[in-house]
Amino acid sequence: MTCPFCDDNNIQPIKIYKDDLVMAFPTNIPIVPGHTLVCSARHVSKIDQLSDGELKALSDFVIRLKNGLRKTFQAEGFNIAWNEGKMAGQAIDHLHIHVVPRKTGDAGIYEYEPRKFLYRPGSRNESPKQELQEVAELIKKSLA
Ligand SMILES: [Zn+2]
Repeated sequence: MTCPFCDDNNIQPIKIYKDDLVMAFPTNIPIVPGHTLVCSARHVSKIDQLSDGELKALSDFVIRLKNGLRKTFQAEGFNIAWNEGKMAGQAIDHLHIHVVPRKTGDAGIYEYEPRKFLYRPGSRNESPKQELQEVAELIKKSLA
């Protein structure tokens, strides 16, 4: 199986940036104009597989990209996310961080709306503090 992100013929024409650790290019199915994917240069599928250097290069580049997207697409905010695993909607098995520039009144091109996905405005009850503390405790224990 060939990876479309490792195929330089695919990426070269739309390349925003590439070095030994990181590369970036616009997605072919943008939610809004400027929707960019930031990838490790190396083919890995999960964030756990990145080296410290790759992780830092990715986060440094996301910050650079945000500045660029403020200038180029008048971004006022960003959705920054990645899907990991088939169950979570990862369609390409090469780790890629979505950086979506948002501005007032922008129209998502597709129905997928990360703000709705993450926040479900109007349809979510606030969890009782006790429940949140229990959840926090559970997760905290699992990290020990
Ligand atoms: Zn790949």
